[in-house]
Formats: sequence, C-alpha cells, structure tokens
Amino acid sequence: MTPLLKYLAPLSIALLLATPCAQAQNSQARPQSGNIMSCTAPTGESGGLSFPADQSYLRAAVPGNEAYDSIDGMRMKQLVEEQTAIARGYRDAGNQFWGRIIGTKSDHETAMWMAEQLRDAGAENVRLDPIELPPQWLPETWEVSAIRNGQEIALASAWPTYGSVGTAPSGLELELIDVGLGMETDFQGRDVNGKAVIVHSIPTSGAIINSAARSGAIRRADEKGAAAILVVLELPGNLQMSLYEAGTSVPTLALGSQDGAALQQMLSSGDSVILNLRLEVEEHEGLFTYSVRGEVPAASADAEKVVIVAHRDSLFEGGSDNASGVATAIELIRYFAQVPLDQRIRSIEIVGTPGHHNLESTGHSWLREKQGQLLQRAVLLINAEHTAHALVDRWGSELCATNSLGPFSWRINGSTELQRLTLQAFDDFGIPRWIETGGPTGEIRPISNVVPSIVLMHAGVLLHSNIETAAAVPAIGLAATTRAYARIIDEVNKLEASRLVSREQ
Ligand SMILES: [Zn+2]
Repeated sequence: MTPLLKYLAPLSIALLLATPCAQAQNSQARPQSGNIMSCTAPTGESGGLSFPADQSYLRAAVPGNEAYDSIDGMRMKQLVEEQTAIARGYRDAGNQFWGRIIGTKSDHETAMWMAEQLRDAGAENVRLDPIELPPQWLPETWEVSAIRNGQEIALASAWPTYGSVGTAPSGLELELIDVGLGMETDFQGRDVNGKAVIVHSIPTSGAIINSAARSGAIRRADEKGAAAILVVLELPGNLQMSLYEAGTSVPTLALGSQDGAALQQMLSSGDSVILNLRLEVEEHEGLFTYSVRGEVPAASADAEKVVIVAHRDSLFEGGSDNASGVATAIELIRYFAQVPLDQRIRSIEIVGTPGHHNLESTGHSWLREKQGQLLQRAVLLINAEHTAHALVDRWGSELCATNSLGPFSWRINGSTELQRLTLQAFDDFGIPRWIETGGPTGEIRPISNVVPSIVLMHAGVLLHSNIETAAAVPAIGLAATTRAYARIIDEVNKLEASRLVSREQ
C-alpha cells in the first residue's frame, strides 16, 4: 500500500461509517415511509413528544394474576388527565409559574378533587387535614431577552430555579458571558463579576440531576460575582424545566438548549450582548395546604394497617410526577374496598400529601411530624410516586418516544421475604427496573426506615419539564405497577408483621 492509500483507506471507511449516521441525524434526509415520526426536538412551537396509543405499548405480565384484572389502567389514566387539567387551568388563569403549586388554588382544587375520588372509590373517613404554610416563594412574572446591535431575542424557555431571588420591578440590564460547563478552568481568565453568566449543564438524566449542580458550576458562578446565572440544560429542543433550588444569591434561571444556542451564536460574533432580565418574586404569607386522607377499614377495629402515600403537587402538568402516583393510590382503594369487610385482615390508609416541591418540603415535615399517629400499627408503607412513564430515548438533537415503559429505580426497607415477594411481583407484572436498589426515596424519605417500606419510581429525562404530560403516562404502566402493589399487599397480609421487618432494625 502506498503511504497515501494507507491514510486514505481508513479515512474512506470512516466516511462510509459516518454517512448513515449523519443522514439519520438530519431530519430532512428521513425516508418518507408514512410512519409517524416519534423523534422531535420539542419546543414551544412544535409542542411536546407524540407518544404511542395505549394499546401499542409492550406488555409482559405473566399469567396467573387475573385476580388483579379489575385494576384498570384506562380508568387511572383518566384520573391522571383530570389532575393535569387542573394544572393547565391554573396556567390558563394567567399564572406564569404553574402546576399544582402548594398553597395556591391549584393545590386546593387538587385536594378537593382527590377527596371526591377517594369517596367515589369506596374510601371511608375521607378528610382534609389543613396545614398552615410558612411564607411561600412564588415567582409572579418574569421576562428574559438578549440584545446585540439593537436586535433583541426573547428567551421563551426561561424558568426560575426553585427559590431564586428576584429582581427589582425595573429589572436588570447585564453584560452576558458564557463559561461553558463552568468548571474551575472555564472561569480562568474570565471576568464574570457583575455579569449575567451562562453555564451549560449535562442532564443526568434531566432537570433534577444535572452536571452544573453536581460539579458546583452554579455555586462557582455565584461566588465569582455573577449578577445573574442562566443554566442551559442541554436536552434536545427548548424545554422549560424547573431545577431544584440553586442556593444562589442572584437571580438564577434555567434555559432550554435552543435558547442557549441562540445566545452562543450572538456571543460568538464578538459583539457585546446585553441580557434584560426581570423576575418578580413574592413571599406569600398566610397560605395553607392539606393532606387528604381516607381508608378502607379492616374487619377488626384494632387491626394493623398498610399506609400508602402519594404526593399531590406538581411543577407543570406533572403527568407522572405525581398524577400517576395519586391515580395508583385511588385505584388501590377501589380494589380493596371491594373485598368483603369480614375478609379484610388489615386496613388500608391513603394519604395525599402536599409534596416536596417547595423550599420547606412541607410533605416531608408533615410526615415527620405525624409519623407517630400515621405509622401506629403500620406493617407496610408504600410510596406511590411516578408509577408510570413511557421510556424516552435520546438521539442527537432529538428526543424519541418509545413503546416501552420507562425503567424504575426501587428501594425496599424490610426483610428478605418482603424484598423477594416485592421484586417477584414487579417482575411478574412486567415492570422494568434497575437490577440493583437505588435512586430517590421521594416523598416518604423522612419515614422510610421507620417501618417496612417500598419505593418504586421512574425519574427520567422529562421529569420537572413542561412536556411531562398525561400523554407520557401509559395506561399499561399504571395497570402494571398498581396491580403489583395490590398483589404485594395481598401477600403481605398473609404474613405476620414480624416477618416483614429487616433483622438489622
Ligand atoms: Zn415526585
């Protein structure tokens, strides 16, 4: 082989290999098969992702569990849709910061709705337990834009990170600077003092866990004197995303990657770019929320009980987080309320808690405070949280909907026997899961070690984004997890409480 060929041959192989990939990434070059495109870069204009019809999802339940067929995925999906409609109604009433937000009308409406659903499902002693709230951080309105050479672009995806400080009503006018991933070396030789600092963040896997928070980039920008911080979460499209509290002393907002790219383009010209930022935040006093409670009593008044917790709040529509968990809890009540009273070994108690998407994590503090009464005679605690979501894949600059269920992380506090029967139920109902325990504990975190407990959660790329809608929640997934929980409760009810407790406890 001549020296030139020696170099050309591997290069041409590389080119051959690269060509199909380059074509696949270019949506213009897609074959016109007539199939619906499942991949897209979701923006305000393009809308969210298109998910498959409920009948199209893969299912993998083993036979022999027909006793749980009455647990109905479509009925639960309807409950998910009703909760997401409450969130949209709140948005459409003119609230820029929207969802089922603690202490607001959307929260109270969700509480009333859940109480009504519990009664309809056959729960007894349904009640609202009012909780007074400390002053609540609530962004009223915000507006962010960038100007270069008199040309202004609006940054439509801007969303305040939780607990961010606001600006004066007149807003801020700041020079813009981009420090890449915001590592220590990215700041070397850059003067960020008094400027609006852009930090890019790698989602792992989405808004709640991302590189800028983990590597300290946001804190670093704050310490080096930034006057405002924009965190560009590098997920395809231009999603609005709610990041957990950044703990910074200056206004801090998340941006979608399309808005981040537009700013990068403005800055790379070398001209000065000015950021206009106005974020009006109020601390609302005198607000209140509820825990919603109901039960299916056992045959005996002093029977032991199983407690199911589902947090009611959400950022944006919260189809999976946590309309799905609330739907699971209500359907479990419906299932167990149909068991004749004299056959009920243990009572089932449901608590719809205010949730942890607020600075004080009121759901956590309420559970911590009430645990003595709530967990008295409890043999098992179930966290019904994010009980179904479609698997969303990532391909280049697009997100792809799939016909698979998104995988779940899980935690089981209890005996080997409890672990065995729980995992067996998950497997028998075709629930994809991490092979090892791990992931978040969610709403029950402060009390998960007090009694035997089970957590099964999906926390994927759309979590805390504006496209985590009811459409992202497959009915088949709701049915699978809820049926598994029902079987777990039935099997647990055949065991003495002592057999559920971990020996180490
Ligand atoms: Zn949640």
